[in-house]
Amino acid sequence: MLGTFISHISHDFRTPLTLINTNTYLLRKTNDEARKRELARKIEQQVDYVNRVVNEMLEVVTLEEQVDFNLTPIDIAEILNNVSLFVAGLADDKDIEFLFDEPTHFYHYADARWLERAVRELLLNAVQFTNPGGQISLTLSLAEHELVIRIQDTGIGIPPAEQEKIFQHLYRVDSARTMPGVGLGLTLAKLIVEAHSGTIRLESAPNVGSTFDIVLPRISPASSVETERVHPGDTAPLRLDDDID
Ligand code: ADP
Repeated sequence: MLGTFISHISHDFRTPLTLINTNTYLLRKTNDEARKRELARKIEQQVDYVNRVVNEMLEVVTLEEQVDFNLTPIDIAEILNNVSLFVAGLADDKDIEFLFDEPTHFYHYADARWLERAVRELLLNAVQFTNPGGQISLTLSLAEHELVIRIQDTGIGIPPAEQEKIFQHLYRVDSARTMPGVGLGLTLAKLIVEAHSGTIRLESAPNVGSTFDIVLPRISPASSVETERVHPGDTAPLRLDDDID
């Protein structure tokens, strides 16, 4: 396990470092200004990538060491709206249809920043693994005991044998690692959702698409205070699970 992890990390660093090295060499050799700018841009991209790998690794370590989640009554609709604004442009750039109807305001005890991050990771994957002309959607549904944030795509799908593995650190179905990505997005999302006493459900079929459900229990504030170090803060007292129109 540690061996695989180290070999993935080495690959994640070696490839961009080799590219930085080559492009720096070429940059020194050329006198063409346009070419210089192009090479500098490539170097910046690789530096950004290495930065992203390091940041995501640190985030995973932080989450695994138990972040003090700030669970307060937050409006889930607002979280989804924020993420949708961010993702809509990316989907549009790739000619993917993004379906999102602003849900009814719904308050739930959660850490706004981290929960938004988890939804964002799943939506970014949906955009990344869906071809132009495809469709992705984001919905919120409420059942008696749980709420479900659903991220659905008509993308490349995930073979059944890979579906559990993709939640592991740095694991990618594309073992040649030809697609961009660090391989920590799902690890982060899973850790965040589990810290909210929830789970991520996955249904997927190759060439049909994937559905990721973030399932959160509709817990009472009293039990969440005991089990999850909640800091309800100064927010106006709300009955948890209130639907507010
Ligand atoms: P990354 O996206 O950075 O590679 P993740 O941990 O988010 O890392 O995902 C791990 C792997 O799971 C991806 O590399 C991809 O192979 C697969 N995957 C995740 N989401 C999807 C999706 N919506 N459709 C198809 N494959 C997916």
